[in-house]
Amino acid sequence: MSTKDSFRAPKGTADLLGSAAAGWDALQQTARRVFARYGYAPVYTPVFEHTEVFARGIGEATDVVGKEMYTFTDRAGRSLTLRPENTAGVVRAAIQAHLTDNGQTAKLFYAGPMFRYERPQKGRQRQFYQLGAEALGFQAPAADAEMVLMLRDFYLTLGLTETRGSASLAASPDNGNLVLLLNTMGCAQCRPAWRDAMAGYIRAHADGLCQECQRRADTNPLRALDCKNPACVDIMAGAPKLADYLCDDCREHFAQVRALLDAAGVVYQLDPTLVRGLDYYTRTVFEFQVADGLGSQNAVGGGGRYDGLFEQLGGSPTPGIGFAIGAERTLLALEAAGIILSDTNRTAVYVACADADLRDTAFLLTTALRAAGVSVVCDLQDKSLKSQFKAADKAGAGHVVIIGADEDARGGVTLRDMQTKTELFVPRDELLAALTAGDSEN
Ligand SMILES: [Zn+2]
Ligand SMILES: [Zn+2]
Repeated sequence: MSTKDSFRAPKGTADLLGSAAAGWDALQQTARRVFARYGYAPVYTPVFEHTEVFARGIGEATDVVGKEMYTFTDRAGRSLTLRPENTAGVVRAAIQAHLTDNGQTAKLFYAGPMFRYERPQKGRQRQFYQLGAEALGFQAPAADAEMVLMLRDFYLTLGLTETRGSASLAASPDNGNLVLLLNTMGCAQCRPAWRDAMAGYIRAHADGLCQECQRRADTNPLRALDCKNPACVDIMAGAPKLADYLCDDCREHFAQVRALLDAAGVVYQLDPTLVRGLDYYTRTVFEFQVADGLGSQNAVGGGGRYDGLFEQLGGSPTPGIGFAIGAERTLLALEAAGIILSDTNRTAVYVACADADLRDTAFLLTTALRAAGVSVVCDLQDKSLKSQFKAADKAGAGHVVIIGADEDARGGVTLRDMQTKTELFVPRDELLAALTAGDSEN
C-alpha cells in the first residue's frame, strides 16, 4: 500500500458527510420517536466483545462467524471481535445486568456501526450502520406481532408505503414499495427433523447444487435456501417444507401471530424459504424488502425470535425477539422512492455584519439569539458582506439578519427573507418575535 493510500478511509468504509450524515441522524431520530411509543429504552453495548459471544451466539457454521468477522488479539492475549451485529451483545448485556431475572422483561433499542469483512458493494460496507430493537423475556405471540408492527411503523413513518401483492408488482408507485415476508423456523423440538430432511434432500440433489450448498448438507443445510445461484434456487424450491414438520406449539404460535397481524391490517406474504442468516432464530422470522433501487440487496430490515440465545450465552432459558434495520439500504430505498428526509440540523438564521466596527455587536446578537433557542451562525472570518451572503446561502439559512451602521443607529437590524428576497427594518427588541413568527405554522 502506498503512503497516499494509507491516508484514505480503509476499503469497505465510508465517511458519513453531508446528506449521508444527515440521513443517518434522521433514521436515528425517527427510530427514537417511533420506538418510544412502544416502550423501548436505549442501550449501548461495546463495539467489540469476546469472540465467544458471537461464535456461540450467532453460530460457528454461519458465514458471519466462519469468514466475515474482524477478530483480533488484544495486548493481553484475549480474542476480541468487532461486533458483526448487536443482538448477541444486547443479550449478553441483559444477562450480565440481570435484566430478565425472575421473569422480568426488557425492551431495548440500539443504533451504531457493525463490522463484517465482506466484498463491498452498493448498500453493503464493511463498517455499516444498524438500528435495532430487542424484546427480552416475552414468550407470547403478541410480542412477535408487536415487533413486526413496530418495524413496519418505522418504515411507514419514513414515508415508505405498503405493497399489496408480490414484490414484482411493487414497482408501480401507486402500489407502494415495501414488502413484508413472514415465516416460522420452528423450535428446538421440531426443527432438527426438518434439518435432517433438508440435509438428505441436498445430498440427493448434490449434482445440481453449487459446491457451497453441497458443503451445507453437513454444516448448515437451511442456508441452502438462501443461495442466490439460479440452479440452487430451482432445486431448493422443491426442498422439504418446515410447515410439514412443525410441532403443535409452533403451529399454534405462528397462527396467533398471523391472526394478530391480520386483525391489525398488516399486509404480508408467507415465504417458506425465508430463513434469516443467523443460527439463533426460532419460530417467527420476518423481513422487509423494497421493490426497486437496490437490486439483490433489497432487504432493508428484518428479524425474528431467538428463544435459545440466552442459554447459548450462559444465561437461563429466556425468550427474546428483535429486529435490525440496515441504515445504508434504508437510505437507498428512500432515495429510490424519492423521499427526502427533513434535515433538522439546518441553520435557520445567518447574522451578517455590514460594518467592521460592529463585528462584536453581531457576535453578541448571535449569542443572544442562540440563548433564545434559534439555530443561528455568524461570520467568524472577517468576510466581506458579499461573502457573508454566499455563506448564508450555503448554510441554507431562511433569514439573514444584517447589522450595519444605519440600522445600529436606529436601534435595529435589517431582516432579509431568503425565500421571498424581501427586506424590512426590525427593532432589536422585536427581532426574536419576527424570527420565530412562522414557527408555529411549520
Ligand atoms: Zn416447534
Ligand atoms: Zn448454492
